[in-house]
Amino acid sequence: MKTGLLKLLLSLFLLLSVQYTFSQAPPPHISGTVQVSMKDGTIKAEIVISKIPALADYAIWLNTGFTLEHLADANKQVSYAPLREYNPEQYEVFQYVLKDNKSNELVFTDKMTLKYTGAFPVLESSKQVDGWCADWKGNIVFIDNTLRASEQTAWYPIIYDKKNDVLLNKVTYDLEIVTEESASIYLNGSSPVKANRHRFTTETPVPLLLVMGSFDFKAQQKINFINTQLPELAEATLIEWTNNITQFYEQKLDLQYSRSVSYVESRPACSNWGWMFVSYPSIMVVGNEANSLSSYFDQETHQFKRSADIAYIAHELAHYYFGEVFVPNAELKWLFLEGLAEYVSLQALRTLVGEKEYQTLIQKYSEEVKGMTFSPLHEITTADQINQTYRYRYIPLLLTALEKEVGSKKLWLWLKRVINSKDSLSNYNFLKETLLAAGISQNTLTGFEATYIAGANSLEQVLKRVEMK
Ligand SMILES: [Zn+2]
Repeated sequence: MKTGLLKLLLSLFLLLSVQYTFSQAPPPHISGTVQVSMKDGTIKAEIVISKIPALADYAIWLNTGFTLEHLADANKQVSYAPLREYNPEQYEVFQYVLKDNKSNELVFTDKMTLKYTGAFPVLESSKQVDGWCADWKGNIVFIDNTLRASEQTAWYPIIYDKKNDVLLNKVTYDLEIVTEESASIYLNGSSPVKANRHRFTTETPVPLLLVMGSFDFKAQQKINFINTQLPELAEATLIEWTNNITQFYEQKLDLQYSRSVSYVESRPACSNWGWMFVSYPSIMVVGNEANSLSSYFDQETHQFKRSADIAYIAHELAHYYFGEVFVPNAELKWLFLEGLAEYVSLQALRTLVGEKEYQTLIQKYSEEVKGMTFSPLHEITTADQINQTYRYRYIPLLLTALEKEVGSKKLWLWLKRVINSKDSLSNYNFLKETLLAAGISQNTLTGFEATYIAGANSLEQVLKRVEMK
């Protein structure tokens, strides 16, 4: 009996310690040198990744524009012929694995070295083409004497935990960035510098956004303005709104907005393109003059011209909670990432700007989705079934219908549940479990599913409910 008890205690202890290791595992650490030629559009890197956690299955992601010269287990000093896979769903990257060529088994190591080179087109300005042109967060762009490469491009090797569908793209680093031309260099998580060689280090894990080239930068009240062309009064407006919005989220979600953000600008590869993305704590605005950060502000008053732009900023700031604190994955990734960021940004607009401005956006979204068809959430099997309109328009409307059914308080309770959950797959079950955990009854949930998710005319029902008081 004693042995039995001991075994039980031991297995309990092991279970606890395994869970502890999983959620507390330190992030990978990246060190080495990255050489960038702004003139030629080349990137040459010699990288060591260490502190790779023990995983059941993995792959190493690297941008498809790179040729891998060397991939080795740094502990054993053994090089491998890179085994390369391509999955069109992750079209920016090749996935590499280390396999033993005798046993054909996956090689696990906590430390690897990689050497690779890539060449990318150097654009003087945005392309004006009649045919196909694309720019997105996963694009490595040399434009207007500036390089933009976010973590989504995988310009640095990223470990992918296949079993848990988690990308370990947040890393600590000790990286030297070198360029022949004198330049400003900004590596996410560090302050920007003007130098042609600089060693950046941080102990706080961040996704690696790299921006370098000929641009200016400054810090105002701890907020970095990098390559932005804002007059000081517009900067003051942006700082004030940033603080108001983050305080609103902190209070509603009961969690401190932990770091000061950086606003960064870059030109798009295609003319007339403009959008924003977040590589926390950086908020990147991509656009030519008409879509630049300056375009948001009235030239005389230096206030926001359109309230919808305040909602844009609020959306990007919300990604600290939905994308950084809570990292969605699996089938409903886009619901939890973009849908929730958009829903809370609408709430920020409603509280901080006004009911009228909020209703205008809600009506606009309702108009945009009218007559469309969206696969019901419980039938979603792959993340990309939730397209742009679904994630940015329909999900916020669906949640607004839910808010009208259960009350705003419960919705915030649910959002708190979501951001505090760890190591879960963001699927339909997770959606239901967290809603129940937030105090929504099984009956209410079943009714909501039947009418607004699975019902034959659920879209009409959602729009009807959203319009009602
Ligand atoms: Zn977003």
